[in-house]
Amino acid sequence: MEKYLAVLKEYHFKITPRRKAVLELFLRQKRYLGPYEIKQMLGKASLEVGLPSIYRILEELEGAGILIKIEHSSRRLYYSLCRKPHIDHHHFVCSKCNRVEEVEFCNFSEISSFIEEKLNAKVQHHSLRIEGLCSQCRRKKSL
Ligand SMILES: [Zn+2]
Ligand SMILES: [Zn+2]
Ligand SMILES: [Zn+2]
Repeated sequence: MEKYLAVLKEYHFKITPRRKAVLELFLRQKRYLGPYEIKQMLGKASLEVGLPSIYRILEELEGAGILIKIEHSSRRLYYSLCRKPHIDHHHFVCSKCNRVEEVEFCNFSEISSFIEEKLNAKVQHHSLRIEGLCSQCRRKKSL
């Protein structure tokens, strides 16, 4: 928690009870969460926060690199906590249990130099969508 609060301070975000509560939810989950789900979870902890505020908090936390946006095939928005902010890495998403895992590996530089050479362009950003079955779901499947 402390390291995320330090990041918020760095980005000049006040540590409000709402922002803290949203962060805590993500810290307890290994999977991605949607805004409506977050609203319900906060409601259970008797913290009534409207959806527009939740969207705003999620965007702020994403802007600070604490959360990542998950592109979902349903086109709905989901977010997950990034446990290694500010390093070039990727995320593995389990399509069964929605668990998100850090992939501390990136070999994009090869693709990047290929593009720069072939298209004479400069690559500025890249993202990679990696989906599959996590180790737990794989095990359950083979039982
Ligand atoms: Zn991450
Ligand atoms: Zn899984
Ligand atoms: Zn990368």
